[in-house]
Amino acid sequence: MTAVIRRPFIHMIALASVLLVSSGAALAPTTDASVAAASPLLAYEARLAGDDARGRLVISFDRRPDFAIHYLANPWRVVIDLPETAFGIKPEDMTARGLFREVRYGAMGGGAARIVLTATRPVQVTLADVQPEAGDKGYRLVVDTAMITEKEFTGLLSRQTWTASVSPRAADASDRPAAVDDGKFVIAIDPGHGGIDAGASGATTNTPEKDVTLAFARELAGILGKQDGVRVILTRDKDEFLSLSQRVQLARNGGAKLFISLHADTLKQKDIRGATVYTISDKASDHLAASLAERENLSDEIAGVPLDDGPAEVADILIDLTRRETQVFSVNLARSVVSSFEGQIALINNPHRHAGFRVLQAPDVPSVLLELGFLSNPEDEKQLLDPAWRRKVAERIAAAVSQYRATVVANGG
Ligand SMILES: [Zn+2]
Repeated sequence: MTAVIRRPFIHMIALASVLLVSSGAALAPTTDASVAAASPLLAYEARLAGDDARGRLVISFDRRPDFAIHYLANPWRVVIDLPETAFGIKPEDMTARGLFREVRYGAMGGGAARIVLTATRPVQVTLADVQPEAGDKGYRLVVDTAMITEKEFTGLLSRQTWTASVSPRAADASDRPAAVDDGKFVIAIDPGHGGIDAGASGATTNTPEKDVTLAFARELAGILGKQDGVRVILTRDKDEFLSLSQRVQLARNGGAKLFISLHADTLKQKDIRGATVYTISDKASDHLAASLAERENLSDEIAGVPLDDGPAEVADILIDLTRRETQVFSVNLARSVVSSFEGQIALINNPHRHAGFRVLQAPDVPSVLLELGFLSNPEDEKQLLDPAWRRKVAERIAAAVSQYRATVVANGG
């Protein structure tokens, strides 16, 4: 009865979460194509209530929402998929409580939105229903949940036929210009996080990291784009979610010769400030690098995306050679950035570090991840939100890129 879609090279962990869905009667999504095609839904009010055994989520929309409900394991999650939705609800009305320890919602890209409820124990949706609001105020989605046993949860997963994939954003990049080989040096700029994954948030202003990285990426794109022979592509230019592998794929599809991922995370040690440049490695350079990479790599999990298929080509000796060569270029770019910042922009101790960031895994595109500063540090936060500071840093990065092109690429690329 259950059709399990199994792609090749699937990860064991992905397997646990990919299996999906049944034709559960109460949970069947409503479908109304005419509604889906219109402007984004507006979620204008929400309420999450309950205790540690059961919960009720009520969200009011301006019109009838299509929805679909799925489950993911490790950790236990309920995923509610929606068409493109503008979330005009107060974050405090969706604060995690009782059965749920985390609630996230936001854009998924490709005209979809998602709510992910992470539970403290195995959980089941007992009712999912759309009802008209009184007085012509649209419709409300009511989702009731209750704790179940681990065994029952495993049963739920095994009956799902959902493939759990995000919309095929990278493959179908229909709203993006196709890659053209105009002989230019293409640089992919990747604003970290986005959509349902807000990233860190500012110590003082609460500004989400996804906004900081996007503002910086636009600034950097403007400056780099003026360099001779350079063309810039942004992995995202709006508030939407991209999986880590989609970011890598967008850069490769676009013919990128460099990939720069931008972040501004938080640390427990609030006094630490300054920029860091990361390159990929199997073994982290230090604890801080390891824990940052671990957190960055959670992005897909936050959005309810199963881990990607393992890299099928790892055993390929040519890929391995390419990877090593690419690594040399990445390290050179990182060094150029550090020396361009020295004496101009605050850097942390040992500013070039390395760890297993999954967004840096393209075998053939030299890649660095730049932590511009830390949103956990009030002084860094102030700078990150200052357009003049952004411009200065973007100019230093652009200088590092032209140095890299003039020396490293000219001599070996
Ligand atoms: Zn980040």
